[in-house]
Order: sequence, then C-alpha cells, then structure tokens
Amino acid sequence: MASPSTDLHFVLLPLMAQGHMIPMVDIARILAQTGTTVTIITTPVNANRFNSVIDRAIEGQLNIKILEVQFPFVESGLPEGCESFDLIPSAAYIVNMFTAMKKLEEPMEKMIQVLYPPPTCIISDGGFPWSTNLAKRLNIPRLVFYGPGCFAFLCIHIVNNTNILNEIDSNSEYIEIPGLPDRIEITKPQASGWGKGNTKETKESFEQTQEAEKDAYGIVVNSFEELEPKYVEEFAKAKGKKVWCIGPVSLCNKSVQDIAERGNKGVKNEHDCMKWLDLQEPKSVVYVCLGSLSYATTEQAIELALGLELSGIPFIWFIRQTREEFEKWLSEERYEERIKGRGLMVRGWAPQILILSHQGIGGFITHCGWNSTLEGICAGIPMVTWPHFAEQFLNERFIVDVVKIGVKIGAEFPLMYKEKDKFEVVKKEDIMTAVEVLMNEQEEGEARRRRAREVGEMAKKAMEEGGSSYLNIKLMIQAISEEVAKNNNPIQDIV
Ligand code: UDP
Repeated sequence: MASPSTDLHFVLLPLMAQGHMIPMVDIARILAQTGTTVTIITTPVNANRFNSVIDRAIEGQLNIKILEVQFPFVESGLPEGCESFDLIPSAAYIVNMFTAMKKLEEPMEKMIQVLYPPPTCIISDGGFPWSTNLAKRLNIPRLVFYGPGCFAFLCIHIVNNTNILNEIDSNSEYIEIPGLPDRIEITKPQASGWGKGNTKETKESFEQTQEAEKDAYGIVVNSFEELEPKYVEEFAKAKGKKVWCIGPVSLCNKSVQDIAERGNKGVKNEHDCMKWLDLQEPKSVVYVCLGSLSYATTEQAIELALGLELSGIPFIWFIRQTREEFEKWLSEERYEERIKGRGLMVRGWAPQILILSHQGIGGFITHCGWNSTLEGICAGIPMVTWPHFAEQFLNERFIVDVVKIGVKIGAEFPLMYKEKDKFEVVKKEDIMTAVEVLMNEQEEGEARRRRAREVGEMAKKAMEEGGSSYLNIKLMIQAISEEVAKNNNPIQDIV
C-alpha cells in the first residue's frame, strides 16, 4: 500500500482575492511537497497570475495543476475580465462578485466529478459555503480556509455570539471583547466590517458560511502555534473543530523567482529597487505597501507622501494604483526630486517578500492584512499599523497589544475601499510621528525590534522539519487519510 500522502488528492477552491489566492497557492505547493496530488480550480484571470509559479512546481516534480473554470461575469453584472476583488471598479460590485462566486458551484462540481484520481478532500474558502454540500455529495471531507489567524477569528466568533455591539450607541467608545486571554478593545464601527456586517446580504452570507462550517471536517489556518498559542486553543474550543495551523505558508517560497512573483508579476524595475536598497544602511528603510485592495484618495496619498518626507527616514513606497490627480501633484511639487536618494516611489505590484527580506528594511507601514502581517513577522521587522477595513483593526490589536511589535498610525474608522466620501484622512504629522517612533533607537524601539526578530525566528522554526506547522501538515494529512479510509472512499479501490 502507498503512503497516506500519495493516496490523497486535494482539490483547492480559493476565493478570488489576492489575500486568499496567494496563501492557497502556497498551501497547494506545501501539500504537493508531501507527495499528494493537488488540483487548484480557479478562473482564467486568476490562473494566469499563478501559471508560472505552478509551472515551476511541476518542473520540480510536484503533482499539481490548475484547472480553469469560466467566471460568470456577464450574468453577474460584472465588467469583462473582472475576476478578482482587486479588479472590481468600485465597492458597489462586491455583491456582484459574491453572486458570481455562488454560480461557480455547478461548473466546479462537473469538473471535480471527472477528476482522476478522484478527489479525496476539498479545501475551500469560507466564501464558498456551497462547497460543504458538494463535498458531502462526493462523500469526501471539506476543510475550510478563511485567510486570517486564530486571534481575529476568535474575536469575530465572540462578537457575533454576544450582544456587546448592541449594548453601545457610541461610534467612538472602545469596548472590551469579553473572554479573551488579553485585554482587547475595539469600537463599534471597527467591529462592523467583519462577521455579520451590517447589510442584509452580508448577514445572509455570514449565516451561510457559519452553517457550512458546522459540517466541515476542520479548519486550516495560515498561522503558527507559537505565535498565538492561547488563541489557537480557544478558537478550536469555540468552534468545536479540528484546527490546523500550517503557516506562515509564505515561507514555502524558496527560489528568488517564487519569492518575487507572488500573486502577480512584480514591477518591471525590480532590479533598480533592489539596487537602491543595496545602497541604504542596514535596517534603515521603511517599506510602505497597503495591500492588494486599499486605494488611497489623492488627499490621503499626499498626506502620506508629506508624512514620509517629514520623518526624514528613508522609505520605499509601492503604489499599486496611482491617480492622475496625485501624479499631477507629484510633478508640480517636484516631490520625487525632493526625496531623491532618501525615498523611492514605485508604481505597481511590490515583490513584497523580496523587499521585506532585504537587509536595508527596518520597518513596514502595513494596512494589517493578515498575509502582510505574517510576512512582516517572518521578516522579523516591527510595523506601523494602518488598518483600513475588514478584520484589519483586529490584526492591528494583535500586532500592537498581543505580539507588541507595532506602532499605531492612529486610523480609527474603517474605510469602504474605493469609496471616496467615506475616507478618513490620516494626517502627515501622525504618519511622521508613527514612523519616527517605530524607527527610534531608544529602549522602547529596541525592545520592539528584539521581539520582532524573536517571533521571526519562531516563524521560521515552525515551518522547518520538526517544527509545529511542519508537524501539523503531517497530522492534517494523516487525519484526512483516516477519514477517507473510514468513508470507504473510491480511493480504496485504486490502492
Ligand atoms: N502583495 C504583494 N504586492 C503588492 C501588494 C500585495 O505581493 O504590491 C501581496 C502581499 O505580499 C500579501 C497579499 O498580496 O501576500 C495581500 O494580502 P493581505 O492579507 O496582506 O491584504 P489584502 O490585500 O487581502 O488586503
């Protein structure tokens, strides 16, 4: 009989957003490295972003492939080619994205039914609640993947299962989330962007996700036990499910190409960026990147530009999408000439892990997306926290209050991404102060840097042979093998 790993065929269904696709593709390669067969099913635009990394994995003898399913953008009222949350023209299209994702059930099921060898487990995003019933019809277990870590999910679970939000009217008062190992406080608006949300659609979608989770076999988390031990335990208890922390999954990227091309082709002038960084003093530069979805207004972008300049600290700032108005301001102000030598602005997709791991980087201004948070942790550097929406305010609390490696920029209100009128502007003075505090060489700054280095080392150990995440991957595969055997899945006939 073959080993448990080689008997298994995992089918991965990632949500169409960079913050979900990127870690799922990493998970796919981690699983394939253990000898399992892995199939990722996604839409053409998303597949295209990952084809080269998957091709390299295949060249490296991994049993892995991407299958393409057409995305029903026309039927769902989305512009053509709009197949990922980072490609939608405005927040008004979020509902259409969810409509389109619901329509994927039937074509995906048809594809999965004819896969060979037959699938033995589905790992699907929480955003595809229908996949629980699909797995049931196929008589195979489903594992859920959500994106964030156990801390954020435990907070969300508690807030959604208590009445604490209804007990306050104020939008600025901080309330403590009860029953947590640490004292964590949050305002009502900060808590309304996750879980049930505040619209009929988000409530429905949350309920469907919760319902589907009840029947799932377990939860896969991109985190590691040493980072949040009490939260991993409490989260598993609260959910009554098996929880496997198998990350930080980004650490599976070893070659420079895999590191540089995560999620998209990096900017064309990547070499110039690296050369510029090579010229900087070790640990002196602040890296600025606000994720794959955040979209600063011109007013906010100008404040950020000025705040960075005022701080006098070297910086490299990646802007994914720039606005004409902002470009005009930059050229009128001759901003890039003013900062020359000390600051670098780069337009396009950042090779984030490559930049973070450069010796010149000493700090990270992050929007607190969970992937960026973990990537900053892996690089062992402290962060300025600038949450924008979703569970990012919770991740900020985690970075600042639990791990104690961050300095808040002072963002108070969640922003609806791409909705100009709801944008709270963080002022240049606050940006300057946060950067100065982060990079200062006094005892407090040193202590933050020391802790950041220590958790960075813990992250690497977790993924190394014998580490906690390494063992959890093995345990998860073992558990799925046993479950498959119990269900007397067709795989038994193949072996
Ligand atoms: N990312 C990147 N280059 C960019 C912007 C983002 O490589 O210019 C990657 C980043 O490394 C992370 C992911 O995109 O892996 C973003 O996920 P995260 O959870 O941090 O935030 P989101 O974009 O989902 O808000």
